[in-house]
Amino acid sequence: MAEVQCARCGTRGPGLEQPPMPGRYGEAILANTCAECWKAWQTEQTLVINHYRLRPHIPYDRQQLYRHMSEFLKLDVV
Ligand SMILES: [Zn+2]
Repeated sequence: MAEVQCARCGTRGPGLEQPPMPGRYGEAILANTCAECWKAWQTEQTLVINHYRLRPHIPYDRQQLYRHMSEFLKLDVV
């Protein structure tokens, strides 16, 4: 597992083994998010989906979810 400088918590630690999703978000997370913060997003994600009533299988809703994710993980991706 490669080490990453995490954009969210600011520490160096183990990252993910592979991008959690295809495209620019997946690449950004692989490069800038530690495994712990990714786990934190997994929990947060459920709250966000419920709060905004998102349907992640619909592209528009998925984009909204990714925006929240990018903000949460302090990724420089829109
Ligand atoms: Zn982190």
